[in-house]
Amino acid sequence: MDSNEFRKRGTEMVEYICQYLETIEERRVTPSVEPGYLRSLIPSEAPFKPEPWEQVMDDVENKIMPGVTHWQHPRFHAYFPAGNSFPSILGDMLGDAIGCIGFSWAASPACTELETIVLDWLGKAIGLPDDFLALKEGSKGGGVIQTSASECVLVSMLAARAQAIKHLKQLHPNVEETQLLSKLMAYCSKEAHSCVEKAAMISFVKLRILEPDEKSSLRGETLTKAMEEDELQGLVPFFVSTTLGTTGACGFDALEEIGVALQKFPNVWLHVDAAYAGNSFICPELKYLLKGIEYADSFNTNSNKWLLTNFDCSLLWVRDRIRLTSALVVDPLYLKHGYSDAAIDYRHWGVPLSRRFRSLKLWFVLRNYGISGLQEYIRHHIRLAKKFEQLVLKDKRFEVTNEVKLGLVCFRLKGSDKLNEKLLSIINGSGKLHMVPASVNEQYIIRFCVVAQNSTDDDINYAWETITDFATELLEKEQD
Ligand code: PLP
Repeated sequence: MDSNEFRKRGTEMVEYICQYLETIEERRVTPSVEPGYLRSLIPSEAPFKPEPWEQVMDDVENKIMPGVTHWQHPRFHAYFPAGNSFPSILGDMLGDAIGCIGFSWAASPACTELETIVLDWLGKAIGLPDDFLALKEGSKGGGVIQTSASECVLVSMLAARAQAIKHLKQLHPNVEETQLLSKLMAYCSKEAHSCVEKAAMISFVKLRILEPDEKSSLRGETLTKAMEEDELQGLVPFFVSTTLGTTGACGFDALEEIGVALQKFPNVWLHVDAAYAGNSFICPELKYLLKGIEYADSFNTNSNKWLLTNFDCSLLWVRDRIRLTSALVVDPLYLKHGYSDAAIDYRHWGVPLSRRFRSLKLWFVLRNYGISGLQEYIRHHIRLAKKFEQLVLKDKRFEVTNEVKLGLVCFRLKGSDKLNEKLLSIINGSGKLHMVPASVNEQYIIRFCVVAQNSTDDDINYAWETITDFATELLEKEQD
């Protein structure tokens, strides 16, 4: 494909994308296909000869789209939002065209410097303490873009682990690192995302999963008690992963309480996973949810969830970048450059060496919407979630099971888990609406998240009508 054809196909692709997003409502939100559906539609070998572009695009519409779950659909209320917007798509497009691999400052200075600046912009907008900003006088911290929140948690844990082992080695110089490793204990709540468990598996450390209170909030006292018990057993607490905005019910760990409790454990790294909720802290009225951040060592949020930025753009800030990078530095000659001491080399801030120019899309989004436009977007979603909550509360057959602070409402039919499982299965099977369940406080609940960028009041009304129609039918059947 030469640049003239790219121009033509690019224009057509933009048109296809606009059409897709403008008419997405006409499609089923979830596909009606069985596993393996695509194998029978696509040859088992790559074409030996080039194929016409039109044929490829025909296959996109006729073979790929029928198997797509449309996350940008106004009837998609599952998980958390998958950020998407036109400025973000354009930013990714430009990043792909520049095609640099910005592992070090020298590998593409703008790629590194824009990332540092944009992370500082957003860190300030969220309300992170100055220590987390790279360009603040005297600060040792800074932000970095990772592929996912799971990676943010993992690298924070790896940094904490390296710090703990170094500390223990000073105390016990003759003990093998592997033996010291076997003593390390990390902590999180039962409501923390499973990525914490995965990070502990990869890091080869023990993880103690603690009971939160009935509001899905891990309390300081629960944590202290567990840590003291473990210390008595000869174990070494080294890492706590807290969550602001849990996946199941958007609960908030008691960060301030935990931060205060950890004052007695000065070598423990406190991480804050705010993958979804963190984006909302750009609104002044929601900053109270970040209370206690002054105690944290690291914080992550996914702008690719709730800040109109396409995957991948997961943001991690640390209070002390040397403590992060000292766990991850490997420095072969072929990657060294003349400014290694003066500049940031993001390859030391994460697992992969190669990195895309991801800050471009976030920069485009921040400049195109402005913080005020993004605040408006967040507030709009919260208003719609509150509207949905009110609709549920008015129907005595249902109950709301979480405290609705942001865009997630958890609800259920008053009755058994089985009944709610049936309800959700019928709704999802119809293709009219898509939601996912969670188990919170040992109870099966249905999660309704406001997801689509331009969701409307009508979409919420439609969703509630659909849910209640199916519920009425189900309850009648159950009585028979
Ligand atoms: N942490 C929380 C609180 C989440 O809700 C999620 C996913 O929804 C994750 C971590 C994992 O995110 P990622 O897919 O970016 O790894």
